[in-house]
Amino acid sequence: LNRRLAGMGTTIFAEMSALATATGSINLGQGFPDTDGPAPIARAAADAVLNGRGNQYPPGPGIPELRTAITEHQQRRYGLSYDPDREVLVTAGATEAIAASLLALLEPGDEVIAFEPFYDSYAACIAMAGATRVPLTLRQPDFRPDLDELRSLITPRTRLLLINTPHNPTGTVLHPDELRVIAELAVEHDLLVITDEVYEHLVFSCAHHPLAALPGMRERTVSISSAGKTFSFTGWKVGWVTSTPELVAAVRTAKQYLTYVSAGPFQYAVAEALRLPDAYFDGFRADLARKRDLLADGLTAAGFRVFNPEGTYFITTDITPLGEKDGVEFCRALPERCGVVAIPNVVFYDNTDAGRALVRFTFCKKVEVLEEAVARLRRL
Ligand code: GLN
Repeated sequence: LNRRLAGMGTTIFAEMSALATATGSINLGQGFPDTDGPAPIARAAADAVLNGRGNQYPPGPGIPELRTAITEHQQRRYGLSYDPDREVLVTAGATEAIAASLLALLEPGDEVIAFEPFYDSYAACIAMAGATRVPLTLRQPDFRPDLDELRSLITPRTRLLLINTPHNPTGTVLHPDELRVIAELAVEHDLLVITDEVYEHLVFSCAHHPLAALPGMRERTVSISSAGKTFSFTGWKVGWVTSTPELVAAVRTAKQYLTYVSAGPFQYAVAEALRLPDAYFDGFRADLARKRDLLADGLTAAGFRVFNPEGTYFITTDITPLGEKDGVEFCRALPERCGVVAIPNVVFYDNTDAGRALVRFTFCKKVEVLEEAVARLRRL
């Protein structure tokens, strides 16, 4: 393994999901639902395979039907207008969109400011691009960005801001006044922005606002999303980028040599999924909100300090009230102690002190599974 990737051997998700399987534990670690998405959408994927749609290499930028559905979604939800032919790129999940964007836009030595804790692929892809990450730590209890600190982190080497809202793992959803300051700073310092909005439809107490909709941002923002979270098909790995023709062309150049194209038949199904009526999105959100409350109440009753998320399907907790200090040790022991798996947030930090005692649980599981997990955790 080269120096750029030293220490990044196995992702925490792979490690913890393997532990869940080996111990037969309830897996509230890696974020994937235990119920698949809508049956008509699954059927659309099967029909595409059986009817020979997308079984051979689809077009590099993605099939036209999906690119059009993505632009309609951006227009209908956010009033953002994109040209499906020049301003959209379909990727192998948001993960490839993140990798291709960073590889396409960064020069070695550039600095990237990202909220910490950061989703693990950010650190790895910034490193693969030869750039340097500069963390802006989101601090408890509210895990909101300190925008004066953000201003102070910008240097002549800063090339781009990597934003994630709703934010994994804290559940923070950036509010319009915060987005406004971020946009002003980006314009003032002529920075590019990559915004990872894969949890755009998983918001509870507030609305999701895309950064690209702010003044001056459309032309400097690469927006990323994915079907995995919104439609509960994380295994399909269909993601996308929307941006200007120039930035999309740059990201497409990198994507060409990573995967060339993304799997074909699922693209037809996701095009249909994006056109589902509002009732689907509202019902999905309401179901998750109930599960969030169930898990938050259960974790509180079990003695954790709970930070209620505004979005995503994760709850971050502090284990200090349980007499614990070290999230990694706690998560490694938890399956043996009570048959539950969680993720130690510290792996998403450079400033490890800020995350040492934080542990993340997902609530995208059936109610009875969450109830059983809570019952087990209460016996700790
Ligand atoms: N995004 C999911 C999570 O945060 C898992 C993705 C992965 O396994 N890389 O849990």
